[in-house]
Amino acid sequence: MPEAIRTRHARSCASRTGQRCNRTPSHATSVYIAADRKKVRRSFPTQTAARAWQRDSRVKADRGTLRAIRTPTLAAAAEDLIEGMKDNSVRARGDKPFRAPVIREYESMLRRRVVPTPLAKKRLSQITHADLVYFVRDLHRQGLSPSSIRNTFDPIRVIFREAAEVGLVPANPMGGAATPERNGEASRAGH
Ligand SMILES: [Zn+2]
Repeated sequence: MPEAIRTRHARSCASRTGQRCNRTPSHATSVYIAADRKKVRRSFPTQTAARAWQRDSRVKADRGTLRAIRTPTLAAAAEDLIEGMKDNSVRARGDKPFRAPVIREYESMLRRRVVPTPLAKKRLSQITHADLVYFVRDLHRQGLSPSSIRNTFDPIRVIFREAAEVGLVPANPMGGAATPERNGEASRAGH
């Protein structure tokens, strides 16, 4: 059901006293995001812009690429992953629970090498492929071996996979090029 576009007049506008509008009104609209049970609201200088945004947003909402909830930061997503692995709500491949040693390993990698970095302060939706390439370079600069870097990226890969599944990120920025490969085994193959 289409949401109305409401015209808002400034407090100082003459239309408030029944006269002609003498300020630039704003046009407020919203789109209901069923997945989040919330509305996204925006206002625009023109009705046309408001209507265009509404039309685009409904398409995006149907595709699941527009959300009413904010995408978590990488640090928050890391904490969610640790918690989710421990309570079995986040599953490994094949819908199996993560094994205890894997959970310990992921938790340690995330807490030591990911959460304290500036990258972890970014929201998942803002993290680009380039950010991940620079992150790998930082890890090389710290003297980590390629296998340690791969191990660091394993939980990050799970975080993005989970976020992509629920549409919190439009596309997974974890391309095969971001991390050292395991003898050509593409990172996307198993995930
Ligand atoms: Zn007005």
